[in-house]
Amino acid sequence: MPKLDTDIRYLAGVGEARAKTLRKLGIETVGDLLSYFPRTYEDRKLSPSISSLIVGENAAVVAMVASTPTLSRIRKGLSLVKFRAVDQSGALEITFFNRPYAKEQFHRGESYVFYGKVEGTLLRRQMNNPVVEKEGAAQLTGSIVPVYPLTAGVTQTLLIKLMRQGLAAASELPEELPDDIRQKHNLCYVNYAYENIHFPPSPEELAIARRRLVFEELFFLTAGLRLWRSQRARIAVTPCEAIDLASFYDALPFTLTGAQRRAIADGVSDMCAGTPMSRLCQGDVGSGKTMVAAALTYFAAKNGLQTAFMAPTEVLAEQHYKGLAPLMEQLGLRTALLTGSTGTKARRELLSQLAAGEIDLLLGTHALISEDVTYQKLGLVVTDEQHRFGVRQRAALSEKGVHPHMLVMSATPIPRTLALILYGDLDVSLIDELPPGRQKIDTFFLHTGYHERIYSFLRKQVAEGRQAYVVCPMVEENEEIEDERKSVMEYARFLQEEIFPDLRIGYVHGRMKAKEKAAAMADFAGGVTHILVSTTVIEVGVDVPNATVMLVENAERFGLSQLHQLRGRVGRGKHKSYCILLSDNRNPETRERLKVMTETADGFRIAEEDLRLRGPGDFFGQRQHGLPAMRAADLSCDMPLLQEAQTAAEELLRQDPGLLLHPAMREKVTRLFAASAETLN
Ligand code: ADP
Ligand code: MG
Repeated sequence: MPKLDTDIRYLAGVGEARAKTLRKLGIETVGDLLSYFPRTYEDRKLSPSISSLIVGENAAVVAMVASTPTLSRIRKGLSLVKFRAVDQSGALEITFFNRPYAKEQFHRGESYVFYGKVEGTLLRRQMNNPVVEKEGAAQLTGSIVPVYPLTAGVTQTLLIKLMRQGLAAASELPEELPDDIRQKHNLCYVNYAYENIHFPPSPEELAIARRRLVFEELFFLTAGLRLWRSQRARIAVTPCEAIDLASFYDALPFTLTGAQRRAIADGVSDMCAGTPMSRLCQGDVGSGKTMVAAALTYFAAKNGLQTAFMAPTEVLAEQHYKGLAPLMEQLGLRTALLTGSTGTKARRELLSQLAAGEIDLLLGTHALISEDVTYQKLGLVVTDEQHRFGVRQRAALSEKGVHPHMLVMSATPIPRTLALILYGDLDVSLIDELPPGRQKIDTFFLHTGYHERIYSFLRKQVAEGRQAYVVCPMVEENEEIEDERKSVMEYARFLQEEIFPDLRIGYVHGRMKAKEKAAAMADFAGGVTHILVSTTVIEVGVDVPNATVMLVENAERFGLSQLHQLRGRVGRGKHKSYCILLSDNRNPETRERLKVMTETADGFRIAEEDLRLRGPGDFFGQRQHGLPAMRAADLSCDMPLLQEAQTAAEELLRQDPGLLLHPAMREKVTRLFAASAETLN
């Protein structure tokens, strides 16, 4: 009797080679297989008759082969096999392209199920290359059929067959949800859920199955995050002493906003509390989160603690270094930068200073968590633009100190309900106020017929001494990486040669070496280049106050929150700024989505809108690293269910904080997080 952890090779039809391709989909065991959920479904239930088939729609129908198949070779490399299939109501012409063996496969008088798109006319219905199965032995037709995400060497048919085997083999799935919770929330049994998520007899049953699986996933996720947090909350650290921040405030060229001060006060009170701080500082682009980190860095240093400040890219790390080092120096603190580009000698020197406690603030990228980096007394860890880091990476960094305080900063406005799930392990400070004097960025949503006018507008801005970003068509996940490079470089070349021969055009894309990227950014920041063509690598954090135009090509390819981030790259100085979104997409929903950008500048409203229009998948995606992979929830889930799962988890943890009364569940969530830790290595 196989169990969920039984190797996938146990199933008939899976040998070494297949096992290897299945591994690419993350499927190694029977359990992995069953948790490989369909992307969508096709209704392949049988239509009552051929005459009921609607031209233009997909349908499955039983019909009898009524003519001997003919094979014709139209030209080199193209063959056709044709025959007629009938039932009592009418006829259906079947054609197979380039499948000459079909001629031998079908015989007059045999009945089959044919599934495909109905073409032709009402009088002459046709199907090309249909899915065909013997009547009575149908696995792929006659029901609602799952459609799985695929990889090379794995077909729908294979997955469907394996799935049926897997479900039959693992007939008794362990029920991991506590029974009272299952009942209280009207959730079906686990067996039913797995059966019906893969092979739902009806949409209603699919909904019941999905409800349970989504609930379960979010429930365990929330419980895991809360457990982690409560464990951290039990750790004792030496409380910081309340230090007066007046000299920090005096050193700033501006007055902090009320929201900034509140966030700083939250952090100070955490650090004085005697347990490690785990705080998320969330604020819209340009709300001044860096200063909150700077204040707490100062506070930590005055308490004899070092700070590590980790940014997701070298560009950002460098920018923070340039911005913060002078301020820190003025306050008597020593700052250093450590990235993958730091030379061996400089690095060695830096590390010895760090170990000796001669550096108060170390800025950098992932390099900060490399093994050979040791701190004398790491007390505060700041991660910027958190959605690029995961729980585990933060944990890796915090292991460098003895339970340092953690401050996480994110500019992605996450709707409150989701934030509680995604950041369930953190306390939240919200910076809901922008520094005074920020100008509204005028946003336009136009079609590509405006290109000429836009180019002359760019020229005018540059003539006035300003600069512009042009964000290029993003590359779809499955398109080749080459394309990303090509589209950015080609567009840059086009602009340089055809449109702006007299201006200097630069470009950056994600595949450039860190040094090249930094050089391109420095050229733009220093005004050497006028226009920067880029992919979304500039999405987060980049700060060039002289840039006043953000032009986004193919804007429909971006989520609203992403566009909001891009727009946040301009309007950072004293000059009037503009954001131009270009799209020829005619889909009304897409147009509605893009129009939101022209109507509001409020990041939270934009995020809510994104959530409403696109579902929570994007938000889960942003935090994919270090969190258990979301399988059911990003398929589709609604907000009420999300809240229900979360409330249930919180309630349970309130009654049983360490999950000591629920050992199976404790083990389950621990395993969930352990598994996601492995994927980081
Ligand atoms: P973000 O929250 O997007 O990280 P930053 O910390 O980069 O924002 O701040 C954006 C800009 O605003 C920076 O140039 C910073 O110096 C400036 N700034 C921050 N706080 C204030 C303030 N209270 N008043 C005026 N300018 C500020
Ligand atoms: Mg920032």
